[in-house]
Amino acid sequence: NIQYKTQICISILFIELCARTHLSPSRLEGKVALITGGASGIGKTAAHEFIKHGAQVIIADMDSQIGPQAAKELGPAAHFVQCDVTWEAQLEKAVMTAMTDYGKLDIMYNNAGVAGPSFPPSIADLDLNEFDKVMQVNVRGTVAGIKHAARAMIPAGSGCILCTSSISGLIGGAGSHSYSVSKSTVPGIVKSVASELCRNGIRINCISPGPIPTPLSLAQIGLIYPRATQEQLVEIVNGLGQLKGARCEEADVAGAALYLASDEAKYVTGHNLVVDGGFTCFKNLPF
Ligand code: NAD
Repeated sequence: NIQYKTQICISILFIELCARTHLSPSRLEGKVALITGGASGIGKTAAHEFIKHGAQVIIADMDSQIGPQAAKELGPAAHFVQCDVTWEAQLEKAVMTAMTDYGKLDIMYNNAGVAGPSFPPSIADLDLNEFDKVMQVNVRGTVAGIKHAARAMIPAGSGCILCTSSISGLIGGAGSHSYSVSKSTVPGIVKSVASELCRNGIRINCISPGPIPTPLSLAQIGLIYPRATQEQLVEIVNGLGQLKGARCEEADVAGAALYLASDEAKYVTGHNLVVDGGFTCFKNLPF
């Protein structure tokens, strides 16, 4: 009887193992990815997800404190390169690291972004120097990342480029004017580049996440609620989500990035995947 029960247990374990293996295949096995802004928040979670699915990941971030720490946490498949995306030469060097150290670049995720120092209620108060700084990172940095990824991918005849837009680029009043303008350009850049690179076997898509409590969004919300504690700010950002029983998390965006980067999305290009739990479908903004 004991022998019979043991046999049943082993069979159940075997079936479960098979099911798990089938459900969690390595969707990026052997791929090389570069993620800008990969030292924190969405980028770091995407790096974790990509590595889990078999990729080698270069984290290109300007922050030399948290960057190496993130790479250490992510393990041997992660490699940190210090890179400020507003410096084209640094981006070029980061892409070259992929080419020289790994021999190729399969996935380029242009994710680094800044929100700017203000959340102005009025366009009349807009500081144009601040506007330029936001555009330098969110627009110029994204375009430069696409340019150097394309240089590496065109000769290979394949590749996948991802960019981070935002719900702030889709509706008004969900970010500073500078930030909203910068993010609204990303789906346009993606469409323009997709029309060219589809002929080279390269796909390009962007993701528009909803509000997630990361250093970037917490700093912005902190400008509206200067007296709030860090915990209260996290609560406020989480409370902005509109989907009942859920809130936007880094993992939701990383999951979307994994899909777009994988062969499951081999026929998807020029697309803006909105991951916002219905935020942009809602008529009354919470601000
Ligand atoms: P985060 O603050 O956790 O991470 C941003 C990372 O970008 C940091 O590691 C930072 O060092 C890096 N970075 C900033 N400027 C850089 C530069 N010039 N060069 C290289 N690296 C630079 O923030 P996050 O929320 O994970 O932001 C990631 C992306 O997601 C950004 O593009 C942001 O605009 C976008 N986004 C965030 C939210 C949100 O609610 N958190 C919503 C929509 C879109």
